Amino acid sequence: MSERIQAPRGTYDVLPDDHAARGRVLRVAENVLERAGYRRIETPVFEHTELFARGVGASTDIVQKEMYTFDDAGGRSLTLRPEGTASICRAYLDHGMQKLPQPVKLWYHGPFFRHERAQAGRYRQFWQIGAEAIGSDAPALDAEAIVLLATVLDELEVGGLRLRLGSLGSPETRAAYREELQAHLRAHADQLSEEVRSRIDLNPLRAFDSDHPGTQAVMQTAPRLLDRLSAEDAEHFAEVRALLDAVELPYEIDPTLVRGLDYYARTVFEFTSDALGAQSGVGGGGRYDGLIAQLGGPATPAVGWAAGMERMLLAAGDAPIPEPMVDLYVALDGESTARSQGFRIAAEARRAGLNAQVELAGRSMKGQLKQASRLQARYVAIVDDTGQARLKDMDAGEQQEIPHTDVVAQVLRGRGLR
Ligand code: ATP
Ligand code: MG
Repeated sequence: MSERIQAPRGTYDVLPDDHAARGRVLRVAENVLERAGYRRIETPVFEHTELFARGVGASTDIVQKEMYTFDDAGGRSLTLRPEGTASICRAYLDHGMQKLPQPVKLWYHGPFFRHERAQAGRYRQFWQIGAEAIGSDAPALDAEAIVLLATVLDELEVGGLRLRLGSLGSPETRAAYREELQAHLRAHADQLSEEVRSRIDLNPLRAFDSDHPGTQAVMQTAPRLLDRLSAEDAEHFAEVRALLDAVELPYEIDPTLVRGLDYYARTVFEFTSDALGAQSGVGGGGRYDGLIAQLGGPATPAVGWAAGMERMLLAAGDAPIPEPMVDLYVALDGESTARSQGFRIAAEARRAGLNAQVELAGRSMKGQLKQASRLQARYVAIVDDTGQARLKDMDAGEQQEIPHTDVVAQVLRGRGLR
């Protein structure tokens, strides 16, 4: 016997029993977003590597170590998408969406790929639901995006939710702050973790995320970006907060909040859930005013978020899963005439909108009746070679003999559908 081939590490199969819960998450998100004017978009699962190098940022963890990149037969470097925002901005430009009334509000759902250490709540292929609002720098856009994600999580009954909120200011403020922070880190280099020290030049902000005690002590006294915001950015941030206050959405200001994208500016936010373990981030996002210009488009402000399907499922309450309902089970008690009549009855039943199954495994009559009761079929039609069918009403425990051509009409009447 040959050795069985395993699924790649960090991936999982979505089994039939899993779909009810996933479908619920998707429907809740779709409903919340579409009612707020967001429209669904789908982009390819792979893109030119350059899109993510520029659109996520060359210094980010994602681009540095987490991308599945390969050359195609034509020698082009392609990458399985690690996130959705860059692709959507590309599509916005490709389809001239800047000519539409702004902001353009889009949402998406699909698989994403990151080469990460696989663990609970962290996969190498995972699913995200995300939303992007492109073409306005109004603080209301940020607040609306945050409120919509909060609504989705609330309707899913995600427990122990916290919203952390911060502002990164403008790229200029960040650049000046970055130098100030680098100077602070260099002055205390001997206390920092190896990793943080080696990344002072590349990504000093990440030091705030470190769980290394020495690094954490150094960060206690580090300068805070929130204290360095320009008057305009501080005002923008104040307006976002005022709007969240207006809808009584609680949040915590987190001056150390860092997001994985290089082109975030101004608002950043993250929802975490106590119901999750170490991987507590359920969803997050922020404003990325510099990104579309970075991709070669006109300067276009935008804001968006993404939430992880697996983590929403882990943190959401168990929803009741409805039993699939079988209206009619067609059992076969004969040879080829019974088989073709049974096949025809099932097809007719489905055309009429009934959930119908026909025996496909060559079971004995006893086995067929057992299968019908396993499926909790409401009616069973036993078809033989004579053109007659015995129709059993499983609830009432009654049986009648009718022509096989009357079976569907009889079931429809019994189901109150005709
Ligand atoms: P984390 O801090 O957990 O690494 P992140 O900051 O990398 O998250 P984002 O890029 O903002 O996450 O993606 C948004 C959401 O997607 C996260 O909040 C999380 O719910 C989910 N997510 C990200 N990476 C993974 C993964 N490898 N497996 C499962 N879900 C993920
Ligand atoms: Mg990550």
